[in-house]
Amino acid sequence: MDLHAKAYRGITSRIEAAVRVAGRPPGDVTLVAASKMQPAAAIRGLVAEGQRRFGENRIQEALAKQRDLAGLGIEWHLIGPLQSNKCRDAAELFDWVQGLDRLKLVEPLSRRRPRARGPLNVLVEVNIDAEPGKAGCTPTEIEPLASAIVSAPGLRLRGLMAIPRPSPEPAERREAFARTRALFDALRAAHPGIDTLSMGMSDDFELAIAEGATMVRIGTALFGPRDHR
Ligand SMILES: *Cc1c(COP(=O)(O)O)cnc(C)c1O
Repeated sequence: MDLHAKAYRGITSRIEAAVRVAGRPPGDVTLVAASKMQPAAAIRGLVAEGQRRFGENRIQEALAKQRDLAGLGIEWHLIGPLQSNKCRDAAELFDWVQGLDRLKLVEPLSRRRPRARGPLNVLVEVNIDAEPGKAGCTPTEIEPLASAIVSAPGLRLRGLMAIPRPSPEPAERREAFARTRALFDALRAAHPGIDTLSMGMSDDFELAIAEGATMVRIGTALFGPRDHR
C-alpha cells in the first residue's frame, strides 16, 4: 500500500472514530481532500481508495488537474478565497464554492453557472474570529448573503464554512468551532434545507467534529507537506 493510501485509511478511521465519540451516526461527516499544490497523481491515488471530493484553491491549477483527471467522477470544491474576476471560472469548473463572502459575488456566479450542470453548491464563509485581512463575512452578514443565494437561479445554499484563527490553544479553536456551529444552527432555522457545516483541517478536525462539523477539509495529514516553491 502506498503512503497516501495508508494516510487516507488512517484519516478516514479517525474521522469515523470522532463521529462515534460525538454520538453521531456513521457517515455523518464528509471528507474533502485539500489537494492544492499536490500533483494529479496523488489525487489519482486517493480516487483509487474511494475518495471523490477534492478541494483546490486556485483556478488555473484546478483546471489543469481537472483535464488530467476527467472521467473519474470527482466532485471539485473551490476552497480558496473567491475573487470577483474569477466568478465565471468558479461557476463553470466547480461543483461547490466554499468561500462566498460578499453580496457582489452572488449575481455573477448565478449568471455564469451553466444550467446543464445543475445548481452550484455554495457555502457562506464567515470570518469567525474577526481576523483582519482574512476572507469571510461577519456574523451579521450571513443571513443577507444566504437570502441572496437562495433567490439566485443556478445556486444552491448548502451551509457555512469557517477557518478559525490558528491558535496553539485547542480550547480556543474548539470555542470558535462552537460559535460557528451556533451560527449554523441559526441559519438553518431560517433555511431548513441546508445541511453542511464545513470546518476542521489537519490539525483540528476531531475538535471540529465534536462541535458539529459535517464536512472537514484535510490536506497535509493526507498528502504530507505541500511542495512550496
Ligand atoms: C489548504 C486548506 C485546507 C487544508 O489544510 P491542511 O492544514 O493542510 O489540512 C483546508 N481548508 C482550506 C480553505 C485550505 O486552503
